[in-house]
Amino acid sequence: MSKKWVYLFKEGNANMKELLGGKGAGLAEMTNIGLPVPGGFTVTTEACTEYYNQDQKLSDEIIGQINDNLAILEKECEKVFGNVDNPLLVSVRSGAKFSMPGMMDTILNLGLNDETVAGIAKSTNNERFAFDSYRRFIQMFGDVVQEISKDKFDDVLDSAKEKNGYKDDTELTADDLKEIVVAYKKIVKEETGKDFPLDPKEQLLMAIEAVFRSWNNNRAISYRNMNDIPHDIGTAVNVQSMVYGNMGDDCGTGVAFTRNPATGQKKLFGEFLINAQGEDVVAGIRTPKDIDELKDIMPDVYKQFHDTAALLENHYKDMQDIEFTIEKSKLFMLQTRTGKRTAAAALRAAVEMVEEGLITKEEAILRLDPLSLDQLLHPTFEAEALKAAELLATGLPASPGAATGKIYFTAEAVCEAVANGEETLLVRKETSPEDIEGMYAANGILTARGGMTSHAAVVARGMGKCCVAGCEMIKVDEAAKKFVVGNQTFTEGDFISLNGSTGNVYKGSIKTVTPELSGHFGQIMKWSDEMRKLKVRTNADTPNDASVAVQFGAEGIGLCRTEHMFFDEHRLPSVRRMILAESSKELREKALAEILPMQKEDFIGIYKAMEGRPVTVRLLDPPLHEFLPKETKDIEALAADMGIAFEDMVTVIHGLEEFNPMLGHRGCRLAITYPEIAEMQTRAIMEAAIEVKEQDGFDVIPEIMIPLIGINEELTYLDKVVRNIAELVKKEKNSDIKYLVGTMMEIPRATLIADQIAETAEFFSFGTNDLTQMTYGFSRDDAGKFITDYKDKGILPNDPFQSIDVEGVGKLVEMGVMLGRKTKPDLKIGVCGEHGGDPKSITFFHNAGLSYVSCSPFRVPIARLAAAQAALNEAKK
Ligand code: PEP
Ligand code: MG
Repeated sequence: MSKKWVYLFKEGNANMKELLGGKGAGLAEMTNIGLPVPGGFTVTTEACTEYYNQDQKLSDEIIGQINDNLAILEKECEKVFGNVDNPLLVSVRSGAKFSMPGMMDTILNLGLNDETVAGIAKSTNNERFAFDSYRRFIQMFGDVVQEISKDKFDDVLDSAKEKNGYKDDTELTADDLKEIVVAYKKIVKEETGKDFPLDPKEQLLMAIEAVFRSWNNNRAISYRNMNDIPHDIGTAVNVQSMVYGNMGDDCGTGVAFTRNPATGQKKLFGEFLINAQGEDVVAGIRTPKDIDELKDIMPDVYKQFHDTAALLENHYKDMQDIEFTIEKSKLFMLQTRTGKRTAAAALRAAVEMVEEGLITKEEAILRLDPLSLDQLLHPTFEAEALKAAELLATGLPASPGAATGKIYFTAEAVCEAVANGEETLLVRKETSPEDIEGMYAANGILTARGGMTSHAAVVARGMGKCCVAGCEMIKVDEAAKKFVVGNQTFTEGDFISLNGSTGNVYKGSIKTVTPELSGHFGQIMKWSDEMRKLKVRTNADTPNDASVAVQFGAEGIGLCRTEHMFFDEHRLPSVRRMILAESSKELREKALAEILPMQKEDFIGIYKAMEGRPVTVRLLDPPLHEFLPKETKDIEALAADMGIAFEDMVTVIHGLEEFNPMLGHRGCRLAITYPEIAEMQTRAIMEAAIEVKEQDGFDVIPEIMIPLIGINEELTYLDKVVRNIAELVKKEKNSDIKYLVGTMMEIPRATLIADQIAETAEFFSFGTNDLTQMTYGFSRDDAGKFITDYKDKGILPNDPFQSIDVEGVGKLVEMGVMLGRKTKPDLKIGVCGEHGGDPKSITFFHNAGLSYVSCSPFRVPIARLAAAQAALNEAKK
């Protein structure tokens, strides 16, 4: 039997997204539950792959099945493709497994030609409508299938309007439109050298091929890259009989969400236009009306739509994004899909759906994207700074958050400025899918036209990017790179600020602050905490970072790097004296004695901020030459300050330089050469802990961590150094404070002898940054230059410094855990490399049996949610 390449809507269902695409599966499901969906069929994603396998040709088998299904559709609709008296017209739309809004192409009114246009005029008794549809069709077909610039068609339309003194497209008469059709066909002939194709079957096959081709247009490729969508899954094509929202004032079209996609509020949220076709709403050509107003204009249709939306949400148990058309007061459903929403809306909807009994807590947790929580942690304007700001205009609050930056008027200009390190905002009349990279790069987006479901609004919300849309008070002149508001003009490079939550646009740049988190956020975090097994700590080196992390729910510090404490400008002179003391132990100890009280103060601040939660402090790690000056004038100044000859100073500095500092004299190796450094740090850690314990009553148990161990004897040697001082301090202070001495697992060799290491170490913490570096032999500081090539060429699926390499580095982690716990079954094991905040890696760490992950403060909520998901997914297995 031959393969099935084409499915009627009634042959599919919601579970067939892979084969039919999201749109096709949605149309099938709606058809099957009895909703009013215009008839049609879906050409599968497999047909798309086959099209590419056959050198971009549709096989005879696929063409045959398309024709067979067309014949069935004709029967169902009682209309005939190309028939003069009763023509069938169809839309041809893309629809991949993952929604890619606006990235691929759509063609409406297909089937029109010089003859069928007359049939449509007769059957609708509306010649103007027929010719308006015809001219739209030629334009879309010319643009999408024949790749003729849209501007060419727009110029004809604009000059027709100008000639007649019209403002709106709707003022064009049937005769005007007939002339436009002639002019459009001329453009096609000039541009392609051929007449516009009049045979509807030929039009259909050309359109289907064009949609398949659009899978690989530049904007679709970059969208997939940005959203981690595979490139080889192809798109389906949906062919559906047309219904018309533009046949008069009893017609219309709209888009609505079952809940507010910006806030999550349970209330129908959307827009519609009377007497318009679908694309008009999304393209932002006319500013649409709020869906609520439909209640007054067409009460029956509104009620039916309202009920259908509720039914769909119940059916899918999730917020739906629905497209509809009203033809002569009759409602048709054209699409339903899971609605894209801001993180705030996702949280609220998830929590409320649990309260409503629609889904379980577990389902709520599993459906959230941990990384999207980042959006909630985005800044808002500082209240004082905002008071002083000058309000320029107000548009629609399309996507929340605050953004400030220099304005640029094209996506390319934004990308260029961002590459030069500038903070930018993209300002456009309205955005289109071509702008996607600029939208991604900019801090925020401002458009002069379009509504809450315009391209700019939908895409910005998906990205979690601040956006003010439809700000009609500003007049944008993209060519002249300026906008005018009132009597002020702003040109490229000027600073403005946007509030995507209110729609306000301000002059100049405004200071921003971190937001308060909502009750829904708290609820989700609470549920996550109930479900997760992994503890979540933070990497923090200052009291301020530590308290931010505690607010976000950190349960301890997994890594306090002590090197930044040495870089402080007041301390550098002592640090440098310590380093330059060379062989004089006495001088070094003197310099270290100067640093000791400062280190102690740092630790006191951190212990207090952590209020008794565990704190892992790592002994000094970076190579010493990093603390010495590099510029001649700085070396001169230091030499003068220390009374050393300039040449001698240069010799010492050169002596400390290394060919491969990452593999050089750093980590525990430093402490082995200069145990005094480890002794000073241990003393500071212990004295601070005892002081905070005694004075503030926090039961601090310091965890002293020795970095870069690869040889068991490195650890046994340093363990003694650290314990000797720790015990000495306890005695001096007459304290019985507890403390732990452990190590980082960041050298592959350490993971291989973890059973030996665990005899001494009281805890392990995987330093997956170094472990990745040394397992691959990729320099952490240089790999960025070639990792992109590795990804592009399919050598690596992703950057192993961002998401753990499960099969290689992960195997070492598993071995370290297994061997370590062979020696000490209850060994506490964490991870403190960047991977500790990456959701995919967190799943791996959960499965590997780690005790905790440690990540930067802003990643803590993400890690809490990801850890809960990992536990739930494990339980499902
Ligand atoms: C690591 O190597 O993963 C680590 C946390 O240490 P650092 O990044 O400071 O080398
Ligand atoms: Mg490291």
